[in-house]
Amino acid sequence: MDSRRNFLKKASLLAGAAVVSGNAGSISKFAVNRMNTEKLKLSFRPYTLELKHVFTLANSSRTTTPVMLTEIQYGDLVGYGEASMPPYLGESHETASTFLAKVDLSQFNDPFKLEEIIDYIDTIDAGNYAAKASVDIALHDLVGKLIGQPWYKIWGYDSEKTPFTSFTIGIDTPDVVKTKVKEAAEYKILKVKLGRDTDKEMIETIRSVTDVPICVDVNQGWKDKHFALDMIHWLKEKGIVFIEQPMDKTKLDDNAWLTQNSPLPTIGDEAVQGLKDVIKAHGIYSGINIKLMKCGGMRNANKMIALADSLGLKVMVGCMTETSCAISAAAHLTPKALWADLDGALLISNDLYNGTKIVDGKVSISRLPGIGIEKI
Ligand code: MG
Repeated sequence: MDSRRNFLKKASLLAGAAVVSGNAGSISKFAVNRMNTEKLKLSFRPYTLELKHVFTLANSSRTTTPVMLTEIQYGDLVGYGEASMPPYLGESHETASTFLAKVDLSQFNDPFKLEEIIDYIDTIDAGNYAAKASVDIALHDLVGKLIGQPWYKIWGYDSEKTPFTSFTIGIDTPDVVKTKVKEAAEYKILKVKLGRDTDKEMIETIRSVTDVPICVDVNQGWKDKHFALDMIHWLKEKGIVFIEQPMDKTKLDDNAWLTQNSPLPTIGDEAVQGLKDVIKAHGIYSGINIKLMKCGGMRNANKMIALADSLGLKVMVGCMTETSCAISAAAHLTPKALWADLDGALLISNDLYNGTKIVDGKVSISRLPGIGIEKI
């Protein structure tokens, strides 16, 4: 209780520092006073997340995830960021260190020029999306703290409209799966990774202990569109909500055919990295899975949501295994998402931050300024 009280007290103090007696004018004075006198200073350090359970995908297993923790200092305020780098995406402690060492934020003395700074980060090198996201998140955290408001408010989103998050049940023996499902009783939607020979057995095992809705992520694992469609019809009868990345992302015609014929929505994940891919996903999938680590951060993710909305694509906000830093950052987007898959911090045993929580299965966005976290 004490740490919760301190957490809230700090929140009100921070907010109060910027919003004096609710006088909006004092916000800009507070910010303007700092301009041209302070410079932005980036620092970063590697960290390794310990997973509570072995994490098994269609083609690999692991027990840790490398992340990079970033901080942007501006006067006496610090913005926090994070890059999560599961090996299959090609980034690592080494690549992120190399990239971040090239980032010179000392040329900027106004963090409110978010667009200009993030555009600069983008021009430093191609790829490196997680490393870029770590700077973007820290910058958003800093700007939110300067304004004294959390990002869902700055964007004008309603924190009451957050979806339930799915909770991933890793592939395992039937007895272990049943235990995991019982432990996950708090969550209103489960997520299961399919794309192996044991797909039906996995679903039957879960259905033997619960009837909550299930999302399915195939991670491109199904090789034939007719087999995929048969599976989807079978899965619909089992109470599945949607199918994520059913087939190889390069098979555009097959994925489009599947979406047209599927009785369940299909979601593009591996096929959708950034803004340009949202347009490409139109007509191929029913929706897209937006992740900060794929698209380079909060600025790009928010633009992707607007574009997806305009194209009639359903939006899901997902994550990697991450601390509550990157999870809290992504949470600000969830009022605009039909589905959330933000269980990343729940799957690790060495989180470093308090922030957005999952309460009764629902995303409960932290009301602290910025991305809404404090160090544990
Ligand atoms: Mg996925």
